[in-house]
Amino acid sequence: MEFRNFYVRPKIPKKLMPLYNMSFNVWATWDKDAGRLYRRMDAHCYQRVQKNPVALFHEMDTQKLIDLSEDNGFLYEMEKVYEKFTQYMGFRSTYEKNESKASLLGRKDVIAYLSMEYGLHESLPLYSGGLGVLSGDHLKAASDIGFPMVGVGLLYKYGYFSQKINHQGYQEEKYKENNWFLKPIREVKDDKGKSLKFKMKIKDFDLHVKIWCIDVGKVPLYLLDTNLPENSVYARGITDHLYVSDRKRRLEQEILLGVGSQIALSLLTIEPRIYHLNEGHSAFLIIERMRELIQKKKMSFEVAKQYVRYTTVFTTHTPVVEGNEHFEINLIKEYLTRDIEALGVSVDEFLKYGRIDGSNYFWLPAFAVVFSRFSNGVSKLHGEVSRSMWKALYPMLDPREVPIDYVTNGVHLLTWLSTEITYLFDRYVGPDYIHKAQQGRIWKKIASMPDTEVWEAHKRTKNQLISYVREKRVEALQESGASIKQIGEARKVLNPEYLTIGFARRFASYKRANLILQDKERLVRILKDPHKPVQFVFAGKAHPADGTGKNLIKEIIEFGRKYGVEDRFIFIEDYSIEVAQYLVQGVDVWLNTPIKPLEASGTSGMKAGMNGVLNLSVPDGWWPECYDGMNGWSINAGEGYDNLDMRRVVEANQIYDLIEDEITEIYYSYSGNGYSEEWVKRMKHAIATVGKDFNMHRMLRDYYRQFYRPEITDLAKVESDNYAFLKDLSSKLKSLKAVWSEVYVKDVISDLGSADLTAGNEVNSDVYVHLGSCQEQQVTVELLYRVSENTIKTEELKFVEQYQDKIAKYQGFISLSGHGVQGLNVRIRPKCDAIYHAYPGLVKYFY
Ligand SMILES: *Cc1c(COP(=O)(O)O)cnc(C)c1O
Repeated sequence: MEFRNFYVRPKIPKKLMPLYNMSFNVWATWDKDAGRLYRRMDAHCYQRVQKNPVALFHEMDTQKLIDLSEDNGFLYEMEKVYEKFTQYMGFRSTYEKNESKASLLGRKDVIAYLSMEYGLHESLPLYSGGLGVLSGDHLKAASDIGFPMVGVGLLYKYGYFSQKINHQGYQEEKYKENNWFLKPIREVKDDKGKSLKFKMKIKDFDLHVKIWCIDVGKVPLYLLDTNLPENSVYARGITDHLYVSDRKRRLEQEILLGVGSQIALSLLTIEPRIYHLNEGHSAFLIIERMRELIQKKKMSFEVAKQYVRYTTVFTTHTPVVEGNEHFEINLIKEYLTRDIEALGVSVDEFLKYGRIDGSNYFWLPAFAVVFSRFSNGVSKLHGEVSRSMWKALYPMLDPREVPIDYVTNGVHLLTWLSTEITYLFDRYVGPDYIHKAQQGRIWKKIASMPDTEVWEAHKRTKNQLISYVREKRVEALQESGASIKQIGEARKVLNPEYLTIGFARRFASYKRANLILQDKERLVRILKDPHKPVQFVFAGKAHPADGTGKNLIKEIIEFGRKYGVEDRFIFIEDYSIEVAQYLVQGVDVWLNTPIKPLEASGTSGMKAGMNGVLNLSVPDGWWPECYDGMNGWSINAGEGYDNLDMRRVVEANQIYDLIEDEITEIYYSYSGNGYSEEWVKRMKHAIATVGKDFNMHRMLRDYYRQFYRPEITDLAKVESDNYAFLKDLSSKLKSLKAVWSEVYVKDVISDLGSADLTAGNEVNSDVYVHLGSCQEQQVTVELLYRVSENTIKTEELKFVEQYQDKIAKYQGFISLSGHGVQGLNVRIRPKCDAIYHAYPGLVKYFY
């Protein structure tokens, strides 16, 4: 026998209804005043339900709710918070189009953001790590600054796992089924009040999909769910887990995300102007959009491809080729042949867009790059790495010219600032940072924060971290049946007076969590220094299939036990957004030791820095863009070593030296006030520099200026006159291709050999091009001047005259700059920039 389940909501006193409704908006989880209000309702219960406001209402004592609804003091505070919420939701964006700013974003300029994972709050386990937290922060900040954005993703029945560490120090995974009735999420209803659902096909089976919505401030996040009775048991399981290892399952998830998003958006009558693909997982969207454009709008394949390009932005996050999403060609064929053939092209021809060097895999990021007008990495360094990594996609370009730009990541201030630091911001910066942290002037005001208040705020936050760590330890020990003595000791771990170093992130091997264990004896001496003691707190999950990562966790835990430093070398279980918040806000130093250049950006260090925590980091990802000698330390001694073992030794020693000779020296040089003035000066400098350039509003401004705005601005041109611009492009391409084989550079006569090659001089070149039946106005001839390892300049040559034998003469010069070994080449490319950018393979070189 089975029951048909339904859910009964508790009766909420009428006066508390506004607060109850507000609890369904994720805003209520990041606003500190709202948090204080919920804590006041029932501090114990609030903690137990992981600070989930919806669950708080459902789980706390009903009589207490009634009492609160009659408590005038509480109601007064509630009104104030509710008023803040209303103001937030009514904020008029600086980016909103109006009479004087027509180039900005209109209400209809919707940007759809697609991601496999979203990290919004610990009660919504729809994320595994940094990528998800970044997506969550992206939507939160879009709401703050008023971008017309919508997010789309998947609703996982279990989400990512919770981590338990067993007696041997080994990670075990637990999957908890989510109860959506107790979370800040709602079912989307149609006009008849029924759940909004749609049907799609994956391979040969029908799939029913239900649409949910999480309100992230003003931004809706739509989530697709296949866990429905009308689906087969197999189909229901598609949205069970995040990042399943099974390749078929993973492909099904990604088809659901890509294709399903577009169907869901149409059903919701949302017509995005731009699609932002966050990582390759969602790239199958392109196939569904192509299908719609070709079948419904009757576009040719070429025109549809260009239209998709003009409306897509792609962000890559993975600096190792193998780490990028890819599937075997045969698997793709098994699943997508029908969908691809519907585009009017052969499968093999289409799959070329995602194949590199004829490999047997279809690479989703490669596919996304080809179909996006703008692609980017997530830090300056990662931009370079990405260009070089995907250079095989553009064999005709110099790696430095591969069209992958960068926008450095950022983090959402209101989520990551501690309560104490937030109140300092409120008082000394003023409320502008809530909506406009991209404005540099705001950050000048950090200097006005009194040193004592900054230190006091940090001390309180550090104490909160320590209490939290002790509670978590005690809880874990009690669960595992530890002795009273052990539990008693756990209540005393960590000392608020000691310099505290934090390290928390996914336990992927390249992040080298155990680098600090390189010289264990030396580390013990540092930890137990009688005058300048140091303590460490670690956290992080290893992917369930990653044995190496799990062993790293074990190594950390065993070190503490073996060397008798368990009171000051601590691993806390189940890294989550909540654990991350306590750590990045409460420690003194944030340690980051990836193998350069494998950390694309890294964001936890940003979270730490804006709370006044000083970074101690390898100059990888975002850190080289921020480090200025005063806001932290750079572990750069390993730069010269290719041998990874050597690098380890050198970097570990540099870390020990820095801790002994600099970090602890500054930290423990107390003045009469009971703290180190030099340390607080550096804390404030870190808040100002990290806050200014690595907050999420700055990141969104960059996306807006570099990608969103140009795409939205050009749409009018692209769409006008029934896509005349794209059709023209496609016919220009066709005629150019028809004559392309006849075009080549016949000769280059330059005075490179004769001229005095000294910086500042000019070098002239006469270039003879065989045009054949190609028209002069179809092509550009240009000089390519390699000034240095990282810089290439191009100089367009002037057409001089054309001779009888289809040869044309071009002329131009370069001004020599810099010095050392440099290079020159001549190439022919399409004159039309739009064609050149869309088909960068269409070039011919002389040398
Ligand atoms: C910020 C964050 C990350 C990413 O941290 P990195 O420094 O990029 O490794 C991962 N997990 C959680 C829970 C986070 O909050």
